[in-house]
Amino acid sequence: MLTKEDKALIEKAKSLAKETNIKNGIVKEVGCVLITEKGETFLGVSLNLPCGIGFCAEHTAISQMITQTDETHIKIIVAASAWDVSAPCGRCRELINLLDERNMETEVIVSDEKKVKLKDLLPYKWT
Ligand SMILES: [Zn+2]
Repeated sequence: MLTKEDKALIEKAKSLAKETNIKNGIVKEVGCVLITEKGETFLGVSLNLPCGIGFCAEHTAISQMITQTDETHIKIIVAASAWDVSAPCGRCRELINLLDERNMETEVIVSDEKKVKLKDLLPYKWT
């Protein structure tokens, strides 16, 4: 069950998703919002480029967090296109886990109606 605050995070993520074609790909197909355990908010967008060079919106938001703070502990995260929430891909699940073991308890919004813990999405983490 999502709270009013969770739904506001979804709307923020959707507002970041302003799909834009560039010469060699598409940027901003997906937006991401994360909140750290200390309550700071970070935003990101996806870069979809050839040969797997791009990266997910979650990566951008996490990069912002790492660049601007010493924090690695994420309280909640959501990624969405302009229309839909999307659960993080396997690489992003592992990234969140590898940043901080406590992130197995991170809340991940996976749809317009549901959030789960990272440990539910990644029961057999790579170590
Ligand atoms: Zn991903």
